[in-house]
Amino acid sequence: MSYTVAKGNQRADPDELEEMRMPLEGVVDLRSDTVTRPTGEMRRAMAEAEVGDDVYGEDPTVNHLEKRAAELFGKEAALFVPTGCMGNLISIKTWTHHGNEVICEERSHVNLYELASMSAIAGCMPRVARGEDGILTWKEIEAVIRPKIYYDSQTALICLENTNNMAGGTVYPTERVDEICEHAHAAGLKVHLDGARIFNAAATLGENVAPMTKGADSVMFCLSKGLGAPVGSMMVGTKAFIEKARMYRKMFGGGMRQAGVIAAAGLIALEKSPGRLHIDHENAKRLAEGIAEIPGLRIDPKKVRSNIVIFDCSRAGMTAVELCDAVHVHGVWAQDTALYSVRLVTHCDVDRAGCEKALAVLKEVVTKAQKAGA
Ligand SMILES: *Cc1c(COP(=O)(O)O)cnc(C)c1O
Repeated sequence: MSYTVAKGNQRADPDELEEMRMPLEGVVDLRSDTVTRPTGEMRRAMAEAEVGDDVYGEDPTVNHLEKRAAELFGKEAALFVPTGCMGNLISIKTWTHHGNEVICEERSHVNLYELASMSAIAGCMPRVARGEDGILTWKEIEAVIRPKIYYDSQTALICLENTNNMAGGTVYPTERVDEICEHAHAAGLKVHLDGARIFNAAATLGENVAPMTKGADSVMFCLSKGLGAPVGSMMVGTKAFIEKARMYRKMFGGGMRQAGVIAAAGLIALEKSPGRLHIDHENAKRLAEGIAEIPGLRIDPKKVRSNIVIFDCSRAGMTAVELCDAVHVHGVWAQDTALYSVRLVTHCDVDRAGCEKALAVLKEVVTKAQKAGA
């Protein structure tokens, strides 16, 4: 069996990866906000972090990070996990039994990009609903709840994603989340929030994460994306939930020892980065407006609400992979997400000049392709 490792937007041998570990000078890497590298301040904090064995609960830096995360979200407790995928899986495992169904949006990360771990490991079936721009309503959720009949599989959990990545970084209005949580609880269901980019949603709404997530029984968010930490995600919830989650983290191989060295960077990310996310959002808006003016590319800039820009290139005479390969040559890295769909994600390692460069390169490449096709 062979599989590929993404290198830029091309497919590379694992051997070649070492070569491109550090971004090249002059490269505008818009594939994802996961590519952000730790700041000098983070690296210094990592070098100087006080540490202990976190499996024994003795790492002071991890404990501090968990305490701060719980405080910021107004929840009782928090847990540091290696990845967002593990945080989602632990949450699903904690709230369900084998044979249960988990309601999620069709394009959601838990449905598409977590290797079906909710089935493979937690023994659950995803039951998808489609929301306009990836944002579900209670009506859409209610329609796919299974009836309480003994021979039907049973719904246990609703998983919301805010922002919704593959719908283009769309944001849930807080009233919508509240309404869904109230109805879910009345129906005996739990709500997990995949808040990988919840701080981006907070920046868009101009709200704090605590009121935005107060109805959710559990929340996962990533330190390693727009917040800029090198590694790590957090889970927050009640004390009882986090106790169970801690057990499953260990069961899934996620118990880390002197994890304070990475938690130290996470703390800085958590304290300092949320306040600068609006810059990424302004850059994304600029990208969307520029793309809308390039003949052959299509996007509605009004729908770009955070740091993710997804546009259609079906009228440009090239596929998304062809387009990504063509701009890659000019030092602009983009991600194909479907046959004619390309994603750009802004983050702290790309500035306005980088976005202008990306637009100029896109325009050049698409114009050339259209001339060749004409
Ligand atoms: C990135 C992401 C995750 C998981 O993150 P990893 O840390 O890469 O495992 C989960 N949900 C969403 C919406 C994401 O974008």
